[in-house]
Amino acid sequence: MRRVYLDNNATTPVLPEVFAAMRPYFDERFGNASSIHHHGQETRAAVEDARESVAKLLGCQPAEVIFTSGGTEADNLAIAGLVAPGDHIITSSIEHHAVLLACKHQEEHGCQATYLPVDGRGWIDPEEVRRALRPKTKLISIMMANNETGVMQPVEEIGKIAAEAGVSFHTDAVQTAAKMPIDVQRIGCQALSISGHKIHAPQGVGVLYLRKGTRLQPLFYGGRHERSRRAGTENVPGIVALGKAAKLAKEGLERGDPTKMAELRDRLEQGILAQVEEAAVNGAGAPRVPNTANIRFDHIEGEALVIALDLKGLAVSSGAACSSGAIEPSHVLTALGLRMDQARSSVRISLGKQTAAEDIDFALALLPATVARLRELSPTYRRKVVSGVGAKS
Ligand code: PLP
Repeated sequence: MRRVYLDNNATTPVLPEVFAAMRPYFDERFGNASSIHHHGQETRAAVEDARESVAKLLGCQPAEVIFTSGGTEADNLAIAGLVAPGDHIITSSIEHHAVLLACKHQEEHGCQATYLPVDGRGWIDPEEVRRALRPKTKLISIMMANNETGVMQPVEEIGKIAAEAGVSFHTDAVQTAAKMPIDVQRIGCQALSISGHKIHAPQGVGVLYLRKGTRLQPLFYGGRHERSRRAGTENVPGIVALGKAAKLAKEGLERGDPTKMAELRDRLEQGILAQVEEAAVNGAGAPRVPNTANIRFDHIEGEALVIALDLKGLAVSSGAACSSGAIEPSHVLTALGLRMDQARSSVRISLGKQTAAEDIDFALALLPATVARLRELSPTYRRKVVSGVGAKS
């Protein structure tokens, strides 16, 4: 069966060039990068080379790159590392749980936190950030692009507000890296997180950028790895892969890959909206990363659509999470003001570097018919059709 993968915000396939770069570090080049002999020097050089490639992608100094086990650790390190009991944190209601729950944890340990709302497109007004500032505000953590809607936040304006107030600014750029240029100087942030597996490197490796001179309380205690900011023997194959993926991402951005990706995404969205009534793009009208489409199909369950499409070979995802046996609508979509049923009817379709025009054709051939079939089973849609409201002529 033909399978098309359009769930690249969940994870991306490791690119062949990336796999080839990391492979020798599993067997021939196995040294501990802290060892002073040949084997250690070999892996140390590879780690530093990767650090340089990541620094080039982010526009920073190599010494400002801290390798972590992924985006979750980078987010947790930034939040736990930059605040102390008594401090106030400003974040948003649409952050990834790696930020949201890290802030909630700080609230249980003497901090206060403000969770800013978003407008109907999922966008945070920088003036809301300014209004939320308090004398005790120590950290602002607002994501660069949302993982569900792809909506990009005004991080440069927020960076300026943070700088004027003398407050640290962290941004989760996990869903921005490789899709849009990132320049930590323009953003003016003290910390920024990225994750390897969202940019075609493997799962389990990430980076926290930390501006030189920023004091950080580490999460782990142990060796003096990563300049004592992150103890633990380095994941050399993962780091080498992330370095290679960062290099390829930079080349792709310079080649204009985001424009091509946006064309494919826009064709997909327009094709769906032209063929399916009572469908809408969540986050439409806001600046968005080029690979993400989040679409709601009234009268159906997103989960049911994900399963039906998977049976036909198309992988997409729904923002809903199954907790205690019930399907919880996404906190991001409800923050946009969507009703519970609208949030539950949404699916996320996310493109990757490997996505081809034929993959979009495949999705367009499957989606409208699958939605129509599910709607035939939907009590709310049937009622409409029977009563003539919304029925097609
Ligand atoms: N932040 C965002 C916005 C994400 O989308 C994700 C992963 O989905 C993470 C953080 C966590 O990254 P990781 O999976 O590398 O821990």
